[in-house]
Amino acid sequence: MKQALKILKQRFGFDAFRGQQAKVISHVIGGGNAFVLMPTGSGKSLCYQIPALCLDGVAIVVSPLIALMQDQIDALAQLDIAAGAINSTLSSQKTQQIRELALTGSLDLLYVAPERLVMPEFLDFLAECKISLFAIDEAHCVSQWGHDFRPDYAALSLLAKRFPNVPRIALTATADEPTRKDIVQRLNLQTEHMFIDGFDRPNIHYGIVNRNNPKQQLYQFIAKNHDNDCGIIYCISRKKVEQTALWLQEQGLNALPYHAGLSSQIRHQNQTRFLREDKIIMVATIAFGMGIDKPDVRFVVHMNIPKNIEAYYQETGRAGRDGQAAEAYMIYGMDDAAMQRGWINNSVATQEQKRIEHQKLNALLGLCEAASCRRQILLAYFGDPSEPCGNCDTCQTKPETFDGTISAQKALSCVHRTGQRFGVGYLTDILLGKSNERIKSFGHDRQTTFGIGTEHDKNGWQNIFRQLVAQNLLEVDIAGHGGLSVTDKGRIFLHEKQAIELRKLPKQTASQKTLRKSIAVKSSLKVDHETELFDRLRDTRAEIAKVKKLPAYVIFHDKTLIELACLKPQSLDEMLAINGIGETKLKRYGVAFLDVIIKDIEQN
Ligand code: ADP
Ligand code: ZN
Repeated sequence: MKQALKILKQRFGFDAFRGQQAKVISHVIGGGNAFVLMPTGSGKSLCYQIPALCLDGVAIVVSPLIALMQDQIDALAQLDIAAGAINSTLSSQKTQQIRELALTGSLDLLYVAPERLVMPEFLDFLAECKISLFAIDEAHCVSQWGHDFRPDYAALSLLAKRFPNVPRIALTATADEPTRKDIVQRLNLQTEHMFIDGFDRPNIHYGIVNRNNPKQQLYQFIAKNHDNDCGIIYCISRKKVEQTALWLQEQGLNALPYHAGLSSQIRHQNQTRFLREDKIIMVATIAFGMGIDKPDVRFVVHMNIPKNIEAYYQETGRAGRDGQAAEAYMIYGMDDAAMQRGWINNSVATQEQKRIEHQKLNALLGLCEAASCRRQILLAYFGDPSEPCGNCDTCQTKPETFDGTISAQKALSCVHRTGQRFGVGYLTDILLGKSNERIKSFGHDRQTTFGIGTEHDKNGWQNIFRQLVAQNLLEVDIAGHGGLSVTDKGRIFLHEKQAIELRKLPKQTASQKTLRKSIAVKSSLKVDHETELFDRLRDTRAEIAKVKKLPAYVIFHDKTLIELACLKPQSLDEMLAINGIGETKLKRYGVAFLDVIIKDIEQN
């Protein structure tokens, strides 16, 4: 472990191991197999990269995304770590070159896709190499229970038989209990060697708001805290992606679209730009994100509800991988729920699967309408009990509630008496006693519920209907017309005269003036001139990144720049104490950044 610590400090520039890292690393260096479940951004890569550097031979890293291998290799090259990849994008000449390097022991890490690894010819080649370990990244793909099963991954079970003496380390950020067991069994690992860190991502702030004017809500959110940040915005359809990206561009923001309808060339181009550039926003469908480990994504917005809590957690988990403050923000409306229900019902899944999907959707709606800590609900969903977090919207502004019993009774009976086929707008008009031609034509203006709900306004009733749907007293028809009907639970509610607490509508706050500062920077840099220095350091980083054709974060992370701006080291030696600066990077970039700092000190 002494050697491991030395590598951590000198190559990576970090002071100490985090969470389970030290345990995993010493276990693997000792020749053991391991199953590692750690949340996104907690540092899984070091768990195999450091053993790869300590042990003799080449580490084989199985990774599902060919498109991202090169970025990982580039990042390692910045630390003087010899890594290569063999995949279908390489010429046969280049492939041969990398094979030679692996055979002669000149490579520390070799990245391959699973389908390549299990080819008999490739296995024969591996048999000739000295292999230090196998690292299986995104290991949930091994299991049919996991949310992203891949048959090629299942074939990896042959590694245990073919290379019984080479340590295998499987890593993932998402695996529930059955999935974990399945992975361990399929890869022939030992259950006692599971290394599990909690699910919590304390640096992510969670916020969920009701949709009233989505474009303005989105714009205010970005303008308030994220004007200078990278972020991802998820939209429900390709069309919405295009519209939203265009609209943001018109507002002067650097936004790109990404969805499966774009040509693979455009998708690749936009993905590369997103990975490389600062201050860039990706507007995307859920087709975007798997394996994206850009560390400085400061926000993830959902313009509509995601599929379920697992999906929400995974998608929001792409924010703040560098451990710096980040935000997850969802704009949600009842039509989202109707759309998701429709998709579930129209899918080819079995009745049993559909039932499970509906339940999962209910759990998500419960999260959206929660009056208690969002994080607590999220973590409880994954089986981690916790205290209120203080870093989510409901913790910070406790939603006011009111006794909604009578209102709920009025709403349900209005739905019932109009034949369970009308939408919220129509029902609200009846409750408010607003007559129109349509209402008259059905004779609903002579209905007993006509005009009995004037204690709320239109928004007030919308708020109530949404919560009744979230609490499953009402359901939205799935034919897509938005008609509401009373559920069994709703009938019991009426019949047994149950009581219900509902959230009040949040008070509209006056739109805040643009602050034009990044949330991470804002929370760490106290004085203005530190922020200015940070901006200058960031410009220097951007210039170097451009010349070297590398992602900016591969040069230095934001966290490193923030520390430089706060601590202002005045010599190369002092710079070594900064998080993320090891000897290699010091040699490469130390002088350039030191210059900026010294100039700043002289000027101030
Ligand atoms: P994961 O694969 O678990 O999502 P990564 O391996 O990409 O996470 O690491 C996330 C970030 O944390 C990276 O920027 C990495 O450099 C940083 N990191 C990892 N381990 C440490 C550590 N011990 N100290 C400081 N930073 C670390
Ligand atoms: Zn909270």
